[in-house]
Amino acid sequence: MLELDSITVTYGRRVAVDCASLRVGGDAQVLALLGPSGCGKSTLLRAVAGLEPLAGGRVTLDGRDLAGVPTHRRGFGVVFQDGQLFGHRNVAGNIAYGLTRQGWDRSAAAERVEELLALVDLEGMGKRAVTRLSGGQQQRVALARALAPRPRLLLLDEPLSALDRQLRDRLVDDLGRILRDEGVPALIVTHDHDEAVELADAVAVMDDARIVQTDRPGRLWRRPRTARVAEFLGYGVVVDAHVHDGEASSALGSVLVDGPDGDFALGLRPGSVVLQARGVPARVVHSAPSADGVRVRVRVRVGAGDAAIDVDALGDAAPADGSTVRVALDPRRVALIG
Ligand code: ADP
Ligand code: MG
Repeated sequence: MLELDSITVTYGRRVAVDCASLRVGGDAQVLALLGPSGCGKSTLLRAVAGLEPLAGGRVTLDGRDLAGVPTHRRGFGVVFQDGQLFGHRNVAGNIAYGLTRQGWDRSAAAERVEELLALVDLEGMGKRAVTRLSGGQQQRVALARALAPRPRLLLLDEPLSALDRQLRDRLVDDLGRILRDEGVPALIVTHDHDEAVELADAVAVMDDARIVQTDRPGRLWRRPRTARVAEFLGYGVVVDAHVHDGEASSALGSVLVDGPDGDFALGLRPGSVVLQARGVPARVVHSAPSADGVRVRVRVRVGAGDAAIDVDALGDAAPADGSTVRVALDPRRVALIG
């Protein structure tokens, strides 16, 4: 188990990581670190790898303090965004790199390289120059290289973000399978929500140098602790609600939630509001086609007075502007904030 105990990393007077605590391993074999650009994700990863000194706190592996243990003795595999392969070595040469350094004998190393080529779906490509690989293939070689010496932990810094969407979706599947097959605990930095949800047992949200929430993905998206976390998770609209006996009542109707009684805010994201015959009445402002159907901007009364909010509802067809429709909340896409 890797434990970060209140670690702080500074660059001059700038605090890039502020008192961050995390655990990787055990229940959270794969932990995703999610957060806006510049919030300190890479710095945190580099500190774990031993590439940045700590200004405070400690990093331990199975209880052993890693202070003073240099990067190459930590036994971690690292993959960065752009792979950073050795251009003068072929595919097999890249994968064998850590094995040679560790003094594996030739035949054991060759066997391990073949195993890794199969694992990352590049069988028969060992002799290929890495400069003649596609971006996705290069990232798979980088992953194989990191995994080859059987690292105790894998550190992945946005390993798929340089790839186009389609390729990335495919590689996320591969990466998930590879991490499960190899059984190596991993800390993966990403800014892609789908990637985090698909790969990770736990997701830590980082904001402005701090870890602001760590939870299982399902829990995180249902119960973001603050409006700021909710907003970062895609809940761009917030409505007031009152929760009683597990049911949240709001201007947009009621929805079952997992939370105690009291006043809360509900976070809404695209698809949270749907057109539904049994819903609350709403006036259509306008409609526009979207990839999932029709996005209908509706105005809903809030409270007893004239106050109203505009929200986007998802429908199958475009109702006439100014007409009255009924809308409801989709419980799978609503967050209870707090
Ligand atoms: P992220 O990976 O979340 O985008 P980084 O960890 O790269 O964020 O950066 C966190 C903060 O630290 C940023 O404000 C960045 O400008 C600063 N920073 C990163 N690396 C250095 C460095 N080598 N020297 C000085 N400041 C740095
Ligand atoms: Mg980064």
